[in-house]
Amino acid sequence: MSRVLVIGCGGVASVAIQKCCQVSDVFTELCIASRTKSKCDALAEKLAGKTKTIVTTAQVDADDVQQVIDLIRAYKPDLVMNIALPYQDLTIMDACLACGVNYMDTANYEPEDTDDPEWRAIYEKRCEEEGFSAYFDYSWQWAYRKKFEDAGLTALLGCGFDPGVTQAYCAYAAKHEFDQIDTIDILDCNGGDHGYAFATNFNPEINLREVSAPGSYWENGHWVEIPAMSIKREYTFDQVGDKDMYLLHHEEIESLAKTIPGVKRIRFFMTFGQSYLDHMRCLEDVGMLSTTPISFNGQEIVPIQFLKALLPDPASLGPRTKGKTNIGCIFTGTKDGKEKTYYIYNICDHQSCYQEVGSQAISYTTGVPAMCGALMMLTGKWEKPGVYTVEEFDPDPFLDALDQYGLPRSESHTPALVD
Ligand code: NDP
Repeated sequence: MSRVLVIGCGGVASVAIQKCCQVSDVFTELCIASRTKSKCDALAEKLAGKTKTIVTTAQVDADDVQQVIDLIRAYKPDLVMNIALPYQDLTIMDACLACGVNYMDTANYEPEDTDDPEWRAIYEKRCEEEGFSAYFDYSWQWAYRKKFEDAGLTALLGCGFDPGVTQAYCAYAAKHEFDQIDTIDILDCNGGDHGYAFATNFNPEINLREVSAPGSYWENGHWVEIPAMSIKREYTFDQVGDKDMYLLHHEEIESLAKTIPGVKRIRFFMTFGQSYLDHMRCLEDVGMLSTTPISFNGQEIVPIQFLKALLPDPASLGPRTKGKTNIGCIFTGTKDGKEKTYYIYNICDHQSCYQEVGSQAISYTTGVPAMCGALMMLTGKWEKPGVYTVEEFDPDPFLDALDQYGLPRSESHTPALVD
């Protein structure tokens, strides 16, 4: 029996909400709140008569802490699921602290305005000290640890697939498969085809920022940063086939480097087709990926936000996308004094997701773990005061829930390794 407030009603949130409504004995009441209330109402209408969960809706601008506080005080949830954008992480965490409510999200904080001089000064110091230049990092949310501990509240960060399930896979490997993990390669393959020359699978602004940034990996205790898309490998993915993949910076590397003792190297690869890369390079060259506002016909516009308005809505890709995703982690290390390798991954079919919840697999593979993470928190399986990433909790009940609710694991003890 619990009341949950979900903030955001985009691609990922709508999957998470539908999945919560499949587990009505735990998610007994749910409020969908977002900037655009009509989207929340439309989803509530779609769910009407199909679930025992009591669904209500509300309007909120989560950039405004007071609005979130007012909403939490009015609704009195047991948990706030932040599935809006990373820009809102800190305001929603502040509101949760003010109201004494547990918090979770699916992506770590990054600022909407990367030209803000106050943020920029802290960012530049971090780039120098840490050695990676991504706009997003955990430092902002880890700074809330003591506040959450003192308040006796749990904050769960980054509970999507990657970050999220990939970290649970690491915790699982550390618990059951290895005495010592030496290397981790996280492989994110999307073998889906939507038929457009260029479209992003989730929020274009967040997606394009991530992909156009320098790549980096963790090796022997420090970050190695490389130009965007400059390390390419080919890999044959189970049920997808041969794909080109590129090394990217990814947020879970930052936490795993701290939480997996003695790990020597952590890399993250994502597959991209040539058409996607050609379009992205061109858009970047002409300035369309910029987050700096420009004046156009007397109006201020942010180029990447304008581009977002032109691109297909990720939510509309569902009916068109065919094929499968394959996301997982390959480990090397030792067990009982012997060297071993291990691969744990999930395969998800775009069309099956669409038939079940009306979304493609990218939203599905993020929304289902968000629901399962909430399930862990609401049933007391993941509960410890402070701010934590997924690998800091017991992976077993979470992976069992993923197996049950649509993202079953596959395993190999003889995987091909990435050179
Ligand atoms: P969408 O753009 O589809 O949805 C974002 C939602 O947040 C929209 O409903 C939007 O409202 C709402 N929103 C934005 N700003 C505010 C605000 N100020 N106040 C209230 N609501 C707001 O994004 P996605 O669903 O694709 O992504 C959601 C999150 O999931 C992101 O943080 C993304 O980074 C993360 N993600 C994580 C992954 C993982 O594996 N861990 C993978 C993919 C995504 P409106 O309709 O008005 O725009």
